[in-house]
Amino acid sequence: MLIGVLALQGDVVEHLNALERCDATAIPVKTPADLARVDALILPGGESTTVMKLLERFGLGRPIVERTRAGMPLWGTCMGMIVAAHDVVGLDQPTLGLIDITVRRNAFGRQNDSALVELAIPALGSMPFPAIFIRAPWIERHGRKVELLAEREGHGVMAREGNVLATSFHPELGSDARIHRYFLEIVSQQGKASTAA
Ligand code: GLN
Repeated sequence: MLIGVLALQGDVVEHLNALERCDATAIPVKTPADLARVDALILPGGESTTVMKLLERFGLGRPIVERTRAGMPLWGTCMGMIVAAHDVVGLDQPTLGLIDITVRRNAFGRQNDSALVELAIPALGSMPFPAIFIRAPWIERHGRKVELLAEREGHGVMAREGNVLATSFHPELGSDARIHRYFLEIVSQQGKASTAA
């Protein structure tokens, strides 16, 4: 099982390190050839408008969409949630449209409003998750097939639709690896399903 971390811009190393702490093998993904090698992909935090342009330039947008629609597990953190979303409030740049959510960028405020929030995430058990929010988006609308896994101040901040997971905060910046493990579990379930098929 090889996990890729999109490495065009953003907190790539932090995700690679977090995956290593979970004993997963991971590589940075910069080209379509890298993408072809991996079984799952993480879109890290960063700057969504920049990364959406770079995805086009590096020819990665379309293969990511094709692979994900074919079942490859994908997880977007913060910027990655924005890039994976169906659409973004007030932004006419196209997103990848891989999870049926509408997001609002910088919804909890700017850099100075960054916060560590003890978040209830029932799917992870009863212990709250220390979630780091940095210029984070929130989920303004979600489709019927989307499961909201966590809310902050009444707004969705973690969601899943099948093989696609999105968090508006940054689990890779803290030491609690439960969401990385949760994603790795999705990857291993998907692997079993495709071997059985
Ligand atoms: N606010 C950034 C954006 O809109 C996302 C911030 C982040 O990934 N920490 O792209």
